[in-house]
Amino acid sequence: MIVIENVEKRFGETTVLKRINLTIEPGEVVTILGSSGSGKSTLIRCINGLEALSGGRITVDGNDVSTKAGLAASRRRSATVFQLFNLYPHMTALENITLAPINVLKKPRAEAEARARELLKLVGLADLATAYPQRLSGGQRQRVGICRALAMDPRYLLLDEVTSALDPEMTGEVLDILAELARGGTTMLFVTHEVEFARRISSRIVFLEQGELIVDMPTERFFAEDGGFAVPRIRQFLTKMK
Ligand code: ADP
Ligand code: MG
Repeated sequence: MIVIENVEKRFGETTVLKRINLTIEPGEVVTILGSSGSGKSTLIRCINGLEALSGGRITVDGNDVSTKAGLAASRRRSATVFQLFNLYPHMTALENITLAPINVLKKPRAEAEARARELLKLVGLADLATAYPQRLSGGQRQRVGICRALAMDPRYLLLDEVTSALDPEMTGEVLDILAELARGGTTMLFVTHEVEFARRISSRIVFLEQGELIVDMPTERFFAEDGGFAVPRIRQFLTKMK
């Protein structure tokens, strides 16, 4: 599991994360909601070691991400998909997906390619294995990005606003894939503005407000009139997002 304990993050004088505590157990789908600037991306970047912590501790299956060996072990267990389509432009969809399994996991090429084709099929892109990113739509690129993460056989999938740069139709395509993964038992930590979608697929919702985790509730409680909805800041947020 992913254990976040008393995590603090400062940029200069500004405290962006304040004593965050959060545990994600295998099989859970946990969504992080919060206004822009509340620290959601920073928290994801702390988990995958792109930001050093100013305080506290994060472990992924017991591997402390603040140590070099711990981070390497943790990165073999968790994979991240970002908002921007960060595919390599000079590689085909298939090559983008097989790069890390071949180089990092040391999988034989044939095995990596077979798995990549399976994943492309899963996301409805079987025919585009040899296409270069520039030929793909935004939604297709993001689906390849999800395949690239899944190709590492991660126990945990971290997703940071993976649909926020997409138009509604493409957003639908990508959310369908994520719903499918959630049903299949993939553990996910999910940052999104798609509140209704989060409500459908999440087991728990946490709410960040100016770097503080103010609520951590089972999804149903979060949306209940006497649950998360009773917290003025959350009611305001949910009403605005509708
Ligand atoms: P969110 O993803 O919830 O919109 P972020 O985690 O991106 O929020 O940002 C939280 C706060 O941290 C913002 O005020 C942002 O300006 C600040 N911040 C993020 N990254 C940096 C950085 N590298 N240097 C300084 N401030 C940063
Ligand atoms: Mg963000």
